[in-house]
Amino acid sequence: MYIISSKIKLKKFLFIILSILLLSFAVFLVIFHNKKILISAENNKKFIKYVEFNINYKILKEAMNEDIKSHNLSQDIKIDWIKILAYLATKYGGKFDKYKKSDLKNYVKKVKNGESPEQELENQKLFNYYLEAYGTILKDFLGEFEYKNKNNETIKTYGLKARCPIAKSYSFSHYDDFGARRTFGYSRPHLGHDMFCSVGTPVVAVEDGYIEIMGWNRFGGWRIGIRTHDKKRYWYYAHLRKDKPFRPGLKEGDNIKAGDIIGYVGRTGYSNKENINNIKRSHLHIGLQLIFDESQKDSPNEIWINLYNIIFAIT
Ligand SMILES: [Zn+2]
Repeated sequence: MYIISSKIKLKKFLFIILSILLLSFAVFLVIFHNKKILISAENNKKFIKYVEFNINYKILKEAMNEDIKSHNLSQDIKIDWIKILAYLATKYGGKFDKYKKSDLKNYVKKVKNGESPEQELENQKLFNYYLEAYGTILKDFLGEFEYKNKNNETIKTYGLKARCPIAKSYSFSHYDDFGARRTFGYSRPHLGHDMFCSVGTPVVAVEDGYIEIMGWNRFGGWRIGIRTHDKKRYWYYAHLRKDKPFRPGLKEGDNIKAGDIIGYVGRTGYSNKENINNIKRSHLHIGLQLIFDESQKDSPNEIWINLYNIIFAIT
């Protein structure tokens, strides 16, 4: 009698265990399937994943001047410098060492005649890529703005709105150091641009935006990150001054205008401890990250832009 009852108990026990196992497996399958769908949906999102910016500042300036001239002379047909650059990039397959000024002049001439030279390009897909990539970088560099003249009158004009990050009348030196090796923490390429100048030099915002982050980071030291209002550009200013890095009163979330002082050049960074000067030569490290999709913001696929020629063009 005892043996039979324990046999039944064992059967019951095995049945329960088996049921639990089967149920767990079913739940696992459902979760795994959903996750797979989510992951593949993520991978299928279409957005730009790579941009290289290698346009010489002289070409940037020439295209910029055509754009500004056409707006200020009140011509009926406006020239768009971003379209010029996308047109040339497509024509040269991205290799701007093929640049000829006559190509730019011919483009402008055709647009003024009411033609659309970009439509003559063979590779329309490539043109659209460059238009979006360059458009995202340079979108708000030119535009209408107001300023006060000597007589304190407000003047409305069209021109360069972006500001050099080192305040006017302060000198700096720089060279193209994008991609150079950096070894603090781990070996990685330099994803920004260094502008050497003395400690305390005011740093200004290149563009309008809002403060997304400010404080200490072991690489950048005292640093401030400003996101443009369209959320597509993240400007990163690092190694700010020890003790007094930021303009007093600034806090995360504040709106910033192009040209506003945001902080001061220093040598902080490369330290796990806060407020330490571990950078040998005082400089501003400035970086520009493009964000076509929010998933790119803090990921192994971040897109940082070489600012060397851009800084030249806006100084
Ligand atoms: Zn740097």
